[in-house]
Amino acid sequence: MLAAWEKIRMRPSEHCAGVFGLGVSGRAMAMHLKHAGYRVIGFEEGQSPYHSELEEAGIECAVGPVDNDHLNAVDVLFLSPGVDPRKTLFTSFFSQNKPICGELELFDAHETPTIAVTGTNGKSTTVALEAHLLHALGRKGFAGGNYGQPLIEWRDSGDDADVVVAELSSFQLETAYRFAAHVGVVLNVSPDHGDRYDSFEAYVDAKATLIRNLSDEGYAVLNADCPVVSKMAQASSASVLWFGQHRASIPGPGLLIEGTKLIPVNDFSGLDEMNVKSLNLQGTHNMQNAAAACLACAALFPNEKSLSQKLETAMNSFEGLEHRMEFVGEFSGVDFYNDSKATNDHAAAVAVEAMCKPTLLLVGGVSKGGGYEHLVDALASGVKQVLAFGEARFEFAEAFKDKIKLDLYETLAEAIEAACGNAGDGEAVLLAPACSSFDEFTDYAQRGTFFKERVLLLAGRRLESGENDDIKS
Ligand code: ADP
Repeated sequence: MLAAWEKIRMRPSEHCAGVFGLGVSGRAMAMHLKHAGYRVIGFEEGQSPYHSELEEAGIECAVGPVDNDHLNAVDVLFLSPGVDPRKTLFTSFFSQNKPICGELELFDAHETPTIAVTGTNGKSTTVALEAHLLHALGRKGFAGGNYGQPLIEWRDSGDDADVVVAELSSFQLETAYRFAAHVGVVLNVSPDHGDRYDSFEAYVDAKATLIRNLSDEGYAVLNADCPVVSKMAQASSASVLWFGQHRASIPGPGLLIEGTKLIPVNDFSGLDEMNVKSLNLQGTHNMQNAAAACLACAALFPNEKSLSQKLETAMNSFEGLEHRMEFVGEFSGVDFYNDSKATNDHAAAVAVEAMCKPTLLLVGGVSKGGGYEHLVDALASGVKQVLAFGEARFEFAEAFKDKIKLDLYETLAEAIEAACGNAGDGEAVLLAPACSSFDEFTDYAQRGTFFKERVLLLAGRRLESGENDDIKS
């Protein structure tokens, strides 16, 4: 397949490229391919906001049910990340040995030093932190990819940067054959996207592409505490830098996480000890993100003066991202946190573990089918009550049976109201749903915004009735 793609790449004007899925990423690929000289056909089974813009640019758009004649005209097919290459529609494509690629095949990482970050959880936070660190080092970073602007759209805009920080999903990595970053970071891998992958192994394999593709001169930054991730070191000849919480299980040079400290171990001389006290990087999971981001900087800038000092100062001024352990405010002595982006078991569990006060936990939405094993274990770390809402509430009732006080609510609004009524002085309310949001909301962001608005509204009501006069946020 790769050989077929190489031949096509050499002669764009003689070939037809298809782009499947005309969202943000599909639009960027279609425009890029058109400028490169291909005849381009865009396919969209639903609706595309870019339909007329693409047609004006000379891209043929096939919107609605796919017409096989159109698909047969295509020599190489580029899939948007949301499109599954295993779709039966593509079977004949595969059997004719025609290549199926993704956006990363169009992005030449050699043009700009590239740090690529993947993992089940923590990608966006780490990418945002990395960009913040680069800024503090006086380097211009471009952060994009799975989150934000597509990489090729940025490249085609002609803008420049000293370093590209790319957030990559497993979906993007599935169709990346030649993409080789300078530094590949894998934060963690735990079951997710069970709806897309036949097995956990297939999901891990997609993530491992990032490390397999690194060159000998590249660096892998890996989590020594995650057995699935640490195994990836065997798949690459790149140098490996490690982070982890247990000195004995860190197999090579890197950073040990001890509370708020990052301590160099195994003769790692690239960084000195650093202390991260920022509340916006609360919890061990955020210390992992911080360690990974620092190691990536150390790999790219080994000769930077006072590197550790600059990184430490920058980490402590990082503001964090909305909907990730976001502090909403204190209301009648109760702290409210919005971690709406915790859409799976593992992310919700680490959020719970990061809490310092007795916690009323809001979980629910649409189940991703991966179970709640981590969350069940985390309940003991200070959860006082669980309020389960939405479609998945009965699944939580079953998973948490006999383990914790649990109440069920049809909607998030009802669960918030109950949490506000039940929480007392010195306690916390945490939204970490461990589910996607699609039964009630368009996405995690809308759910998180709704949570914040409701909390503030309820706080306002109490204010009016004179019960509370101390909202801090
Ligand atoms: P992603 O882009 O991978 O979805 P985010 O940074 O948006 O990651 O965070 C998603 C969720 O995962 C948040 O709820 C956050 O609290 C949690 N999280 C962040 N970093 C980690 C980590 N290193 N390990 C586990 N969970 C994390």
